[in-house]
Amino acid sequence: MFISFDLDAESAEIYRGADPNTLSRGRFSVYRGVYKILDLLKKYGVHVTFFAPSWVVERYPAVIEAILSGEHEIAAHGYLHERLDQLSLEDEEEIFRRTDEIFRDVVGERPQGFRSPYWRWSRNTIEVLLRHRYRYDSSLMDDEIPYLLRHGEGSLYEYPVDWRLDDWPYLEYYRSLTPRQLLEQWLEEIRYAENVTGYVSITMHPQCIGRGARIKVLEKLLDHATRTGAWIPRGKDLAEHLERLHGNREVVVHEYVEY
Ligand SMILES: [Zn+2]
Repeated sequence: MFISFDLDAESAEIYRGADPNTLSRGRFSVYRGVYKILDLLKKYGVHVTFFAPSWVVERYPAVIEAILSGEHEIAAHGYLHERLDQLSLEDEEEIFRRTDEIFRDVVGERPQGFRSPYWRWSRNTIEVLLRHRYRYDSSLMDDEIPYLLRHGEGSLYEYPVDWRLDDWPYLEYYRSLTPRQLLEQWLEEIRYAENVTGYVSITMHPQCIGRGARIKVLEKLLDHATRTGAWIPRGKDLAEHLERLHGNREVVVHEYVEY
């Protein structure tokens, strides 16, 4: 069960030029939401990956320190939550260069994993990821199990995602489900994964799932995982696991399709 958090804080709102009230909703994640999540993860002894725009890493080093001291992983998520498909190759390259630099300064090492903001790659993203030696990405939707994505001589692992397994559309954007209904939908997907695919990726945002009683959705998920003995890896742990399997030719391989 790949449970991960997108720690966007107010980066997406700044990029859009939003008003102070809208910005404050994003800021909830670093003032309150992330700490509630860290407490729960500690209670259950679970270590996960937080994807964070490097602007957030730079702006909130104390939050990053709290995440790292819980033995969680910080992975890349743009600089200011940009839509990569709207950028030139030069601008995209600059975001990855700057991210490497900020992660080295604040986290102590380059990121191993990447998730594109809004789950949108540009036509250049695969090349940029391989040039910057990323080990894994978690943005595409073309399978329901992790696989090796090959492009020319290079490759990285892809951990597919799904909008139905994201808290944002249901609880924030469309507000079309209650937290209880969302939990039920996710548990159904988790049971399917337990019986069929062996993998499910659930994405949450501290400013969304961390707010008020919604945190109980995460608690119930962790309860379920504890009862069933599900493995909840960090992105880098999953990459290690796949590398071991790869020696036995048990990993699905997809060639990157140019579009
Ligand atoms: Zn995001």
